[in-house]
Amino acid sequence: MNVLVINAGSSSLKYQLLDTKTREVFAKGNAERIGIEGSFIGHEEYGKKDKLEVELPDHRTAIKHIFDILATVDEKPEGIGHRVVQGGWYFPESAVVTDETLGWVREVAPLAPLHNYAEADVIEICREMFPELGNVIVPDTAFHYNMPERAWRYAIPRDVVDTYHVRKYGAHGTSHRYIWRTVDEFMGGAAHKLVSCHLGSGASLCAIEDGACMDTTMGLTPLDGLIMGTRCGTVDPATVFYLNRVAGMSIDEIDTMMNKKSGLLAVSGVSSDSRDVCAGAAEGNEHCAMAIEMFCYRVGQLFAEMAASMGGVDTMAFTAGIGENSVELRQGVADKLAWLGVKIDPELNTIRSDDPRVISTPDSAVTVLVVPTNEELMIALDVEALLG
Ligand code: AMP
Repeated sequence: MNVLVINAGSSSLKYQLLDTKTREVFAKGNAERIGIEGSFIGHEEYGKKDKLEVELPDHRTAIKHIFDILATVDEKPEGIGHRVVQGGWYFPESAVVTDETLGWVREVAPLAPLHNYAEADVIEICREMFPELGNVIVPDTAFHYNMPERAWRYAIPRDVVDTYHVRKYGAHGTSHRYIWRTVDEFMGGAAHKLVSCHLGSGASLCAIEDGACMDTTMGLTPLDGLIMGTRCGTVDPATVFYLNRVAGMSIDEIDTMMNKKSGLLAVSGVSSDSRDVCAGAAEGNEHCAMAIEMFCYRVGQLFAEMAASMGGVDTMAFTAGIGENSVELRQGVADKLAWLGVKIDPELNTIRSDDPRVISTPDSAVTVLVVPTNEELMIALDVEALLG
């Protein structure tokens, strides 16, 4: 089935047209700076890249342009899959778009206002412009929906939890689900307690026992958990009250600081990109070295937390930008887990490949893999399952 996968942000729109059977990607691209001056579409077709400078005042115009561009591609979409950041308390799995399910995306939007409203608008536009195509909602939280109550419930008053739906929702669920599937297949069913380590500019760990999410490090929002490119991860929640009352910072200022000005960027003082931070550390910059040390320390700490949620761990998988590519940070994380008997082979760790691979030594207590993630394929497979 040919599926168009759409990942809408507040000012961007990524797309990919692929075949679920052959897994071939016919075309992909990104509409950027929607509603902002200097908008453009970066388009790639059969490996050939193009940049089109077009005015994109809104998402509707962006989608129209994207479909005009795709009209020149021989293969036509037979269904559309939409990544939705927050599925809230409604989506234990992906769902076909109806008035009701689209209403749910809007209802839960206050939990992810920068994403869900734009995503709901884009879904509505697609339905309107291409009524012959079915649309599917693939929430990034769905995989975590059925984690045990002890993991999702926050120890705050029940009426607050119930009224405002305050709980752990997690994120990166589509990636963690894809990683489980791939690891299960690659290991021939030998993996039972997997810690999936999605380490990119956003980062989260997920404890997966025989395919079921047992816990994850992101919380009500993707701010919780690990240290990320520009996000602080877990800090004492009272930091917010303190900064508000004592430093006079507004809630919006604290929000921006914790989401956009923290993490690797804040600690290193250099960059949110781990490559720059590693390069800085190699040149002797102490702040960069501390940023790397803290990143690995936190991954190691929360890895143990994830393992505890399953009463053990037999497999670990690195994925996303850092997890798939950074030899240095994979080694740094493994070093923090030496006490658990985790050992990676330095030579296997340096091999570059687009395929899943084992990088641990035969005597490692945990099998360590590198598994390239593919959220677009996972979304397309859901579309096929629901519409195909
Ligand atoms: P993502 O959000 O998954 O695209 O990941 C972005 C992060 O991956 C950034 O911190 C990059 O520094 C890191 N990254 C991407 N490519 C590489 C690479 N070839 N080597 C090391 N780190 C990389």
